[in-house]
Amino acid sequence: PTVTQLYRTKKLPSAGSTSSTFPPSQYLNDRISLIRNDITKLDVECIVNAANRSLLGGGGVDGAIHRAAGPRLLEECSGLGGCETGDAKITKAYDLPCKHVIHTVGPIYDSAGKQDPEYMLRSCYRTSLELAVQHGLKTIAFPAISTGVYGYPHHLAARAVVQEIRQFLEQSKGDPNALHRVVFCNFEPRDMDVYAQMFLQYLPPTA
Ligand code: ADP
Repeated sequence: PTVTQLYRTKKLPSAGSTSSTFPPSQYLNDRISLIRNDITKLDVECIVNAANRSLLGGGGVDGAIHRAAGPRLLEECSGLGGCETGDAKITKAYDLPCKHVIHTVGPIYDSAGKQDPEYMLRSCYRTSLELAVQHGLKTIAFPAISTGVYGYPHHLAARAVVQEIRQFLEQSKGDPNALHRVVFCNFEPRDMDVYAQMFLQYLPPTA
């Protein structure tokens, strides 16, 4: 099935849209959305940045987030003392339409066996979700962490992410502080396709 067959809304939200205009998801009581957009345009409560360990900005989605947030984001990040791979830190969002940015550091895929990339990637998503819950945030949007410059194969990353999300949402069922919505905000069409495949495989429609 194609993404549009899986998700009822064909139209992607336009720049600056609110969370209520995201395409509805057929999975897990509408708690997951899959969209293709520039993550810096989303006015959800919180977006996740695929940062590097310095937290001082970089290319790709990190560069886009810092450009759109303005120099005060770098100022706040400079005081955080960096971040370990698999861990996450939260800041304000300054000139971005969202309220907070969670900076997480994905694994470099080919880092000569020093770390288990799947463990680290799953840790990025889990730690970011936990941080959002701790801060009382209800909606979070993720880019496809590590699949750009860090070289994580797209389908392997999507599989690990969907498995981790499924586990997280199952564990938080019934929790009054649980997140209302997790948005996967992809940039590249091929990520839309692999996420759609993985959702179908690991999060089959509930009804
Ligand atoms: P990493 O170093 O973790 O691999 P990159 O920024 O190089 O991070 O890439 C991560 C993913 O973010 C890639 O799939 C890339 O296509 C995507 N991406 C780049 N810019 C944006 C953006 N503005 N919004 C959403 N995703 C983006």
